[in-house]
Amino acid sequence: MERVFNFSAGPSMLPLPVLEKAQAELCSYEHSGMSVMEMSHRSRIYMDIYHHAESALRDVLEIPDSYAVLFLQGGATLQFSMISMNLAPRGATALYAVTGVFAKKAAAEGARWVNAVKVTDCGSEGFIPDLPADLPEDAVYLHITGNNTAYGTMYTSTPEHGKVPLVADWSSGILGSRIPVQDYDLIYAGAQKNMGIAGVTVVILKKELLERETDPLLPDLMNYRSLAKAESMINTPSTYGIYLLGLVCDWLKDLGGVDAMEAINRKKAGMLYDILDHSSLYQGFARRDSRSLTNVTFTLRQSELTESFLKGTESLGLIGLKGYRSIGGIRASIYNGMPVEGVETLADYMRRFEQNA
Ligand code: PMP
Repeated sequence: MERVFNFSAGPSMLPLPVLEKAQAELCSYEHSGMSVMEMSHRSRIYMDIYHHAESALRDVLEIPDSYAVLFLQGGATLQFSMISMNLAPRGATALYAVTGVFAKKAAAEGARWVNAVKVTDCGSEGFIPDLPADLPEDAVYLHITGNNTAYGTMYTSTPEHGKVPLVADWSSGILGSRIPVQDYDLIYAGAQKNMGIAGVTVVILKKELLERETDPLLPDLMNYRSLAKAESMINTPSTYGIYLLGLVCDWLKDLGGVDAMEAINRKKAGMLYDILDHSSLYQGFARRDSRSLTNVTFTLRQSELTESFLKGTESLGLIGLKGYRSIGGIRASIYNGMPVEGVETLADYMRRFEQNA
C-alpha cells in the first residue's frame, strides 16, 4: 500500500491503525450488518458509539464533569459566531487576542454581535504578544487562538486573564499537548487536524454557561443550551465523524494518552526546529518563545529556491508543504497522525537540500 506523508494544515493524516480499524468495520460494524454511515443516529447501536466517543474524549483530555461536551457542525468558523451569540448580550464588550489569521477572523465575526476589542495584535509577525495586565473586568470573555495554524505560533501556557472568562480556539493544538481544560470557560476545535475528520467541531464548555439568557432569535441549532439538552442531536449530527473521533481517542489512549503524544510531538518538532536554528538557508517564521508544536513555518533566505525545494519533497512522498498564502515559504504541519518517520524523512531532505543549494 502506497501512503504519503501529508504535511497539510488540515484535513491531515490520520493514524494508520485508526484507518485500518475503520476499514475493518466499514461494511459491517460489530456484526450489525451495516456501516456506521448507514445507521440511524437515534438507534441504540449508534448512541453507544456517540457515548463512547464522548467518554473517550473526556478521558484523554481529562475534562471535568462540570463541563459539557458538544459535537457540532459548521466548523470552528461557526464557533466564531456562536460563542458571542451564546455568551454575550448584543453589544457587550468581548476581548480578542489577535495572534494570527484565524484569530483575526474570529474577532471579525465576533464583531457582528459584540463590541470586539482587540487587546493584542501581532500584525503579520510570528509571535504571541503578552496580554495587557489591566484587562477590563466587565468584558464578557477573552478569546484566544491557542495554536495559530498559519503562522506556526502557540500559547505555551495559559495566559493570565484576570477575572475575564477565557474562551479558546484550540483547533490545531488540541490533543497534541496538554491543555488544562479547567483553565478555560470554553474550548472549541474542528476535528480535522488532531481529532479525526472534517464535519465535527468539538465544543467543551462549563455547564454553568448553559444557564445564560440568550436572544430569542438565536436559532436552536446555534444555541448551546438546546444542543446540550439534545446531546448534539437537534438534527442529524456528523455520525461517521463522531465515530472516527472515538477511534482516534482510543488510539491515543493506547499510546499512553496526551502526555505520551506530547513527548512524540516535541521530538518531531524538535528535529525541524533544530535544523532551522543551525541553518544559513532556512529562516524560522515564529519567534522561539512562541513556536508551535504542530505547525513548523519557515522561509528560504534564497526565496527563488522555494519552488525547487517543494518539487523535491513531492518526489519523496512528502506533500502539502507549501506555506500559507500570506506568508509564503514552507509549513510542515506535524499533527498527531504524522509518524516520526515522516518528519525524519523531511529533516534528511532539508539537510541535503541545504548542502546542495
Ligand atoms: N481556527 C483555526 C486555528 C484553524 O486552523 C482553522 C482551519 N484551518 C479554523 C479555525 C477554521 O476551521 P474550520 O475549517 O473547521 O471552520
